[in-house]
Amino acid sequence: MTEWGAVFAVFWILWAVDGARLTPRRIFTAIAGGRRAVRARVAYDRISLPGFGPASVRLVAQDVPLALSPAGVTNRRVGAAGRPAERCDLEWAWRWEEVREVGVARGWIFINGARFCPNTGHVRADELLVLAQLPPAAREARLRLIVQRWFRPGHVRRRLALLRGRTRAVAALNTGLLGALVALTIYVVADVPGRIPDVWGQRVIAVLPGLALALLAGHVAALALAVRALRKLKAVAGENRGSALFSAALLPAQALRLRSLLGEGWFPAQHPAAMLAAVGGKAVREEVYFQVLADLRWPLSAPGQALTRDVAEWFGREIEGQMQRLLRAEGLPAEQLLAPPAPDGRGSCGYCPRCRDQFVRAEGTCPQGVALRPLRRAGER
Ligand SMILES: [Zn+2]
Repeated sequence: MTEWGAVFAVFWILWAVDGARLTPRRIFTAIAGGRRAVRARVAYDRISLPGFGPASVRLVAQDVPLALSPAGVTNRRVGAAGRPAERCDLEWAWRWEEVREVGVARGWIFINGARFCPNTGHVRADELLVLAQLPPAAREARLRLIVQRWFRPGHVRRRLALLRGRTRAVAALNTGLLGALVALTIYVVADVPGRIPDVWGQRVIAVLPGLALALLAGHVAALALAVRALRKLKAVAGENRGSALFSAALLPAQALRLRSLLGEGWFPAQHPAAMLAAVGGKAVREEVYFQVLADLRWPLSAPGQALTRDVAEWFGREIEGQMQRLLRAEGLPAEQLLAPPAPDGRGSCGYCPRCRDQFVRAEGTCPQGVALRPLRRAGER
């Protein structure tokens, strides 16, 4: 039975690493459970892990890697949700008249041959070229539509419900298979045959071939259902579900999260605040709204070129408008989110409005260079 123990160990290792991804930058990963009411588990990391259960769905979101305005485009991040905020090594800004050539290579968008920003799916390279060629008024209208497109929590929720509905049978089969495999593993690893009467052991051995066939049939059926669902679930973002399904067919350990696999590319690129507005719990939502608003009001970037500042300002106003819409839907005023924290000690006199750290002084700046504000104590006005 020890050889079987090794087989199961390899199987479960493959299962554990299946779907784990190392991304070049930190991203938001939200794992939504199988049921409607359950709130997603959220992580912000370079390692994106799938959910444990076959019914879970993974949603990912990245900060918008560029800022756009009717005047031009820059790779400065404005209204970032991630902390620490990702920054670009080299700040670029182009007027639309200067944009001649836009391309995508190795996960990056290049403008005029310069590596501009990560290709996160928020704007396509060909869209940037079209924007460059549009007359200014039409460009402004198009830009507003693009920003609106990143803030559609209702759309994300609808797509999540659709994905769950169309993969119900796949998820149920996967859950059954996972349960059977866990039971088999326990049977082998805990050396159940050595602990039960021989008669029982003989009976188990008699049903093993049937069980193996049932597992195989379950595997094939789940894959067939997944292939059928794949045709109905048209992707809107980059994915390689076809080859992932093929690899899952050969390695059953990778075929136990088929719902999550089918969800790749199914969700449109969103602003993290909108994605978490769709699936995050209250605390997660409030945190991400705060971070975006704080980044809009107290950005860390150096002043930079005049064009960069202009573009960032226009773009910041658009993002702020969308954030206000999210906050109104929650009935949560921005002032409430940005209100000063309660002093955390007798010596606390000032706080940083961006990172919320408290200081024994009320003047000067925090280590990140944000001007401190005085803390009001109870009883003071
Ligand atoms: Zn600070």
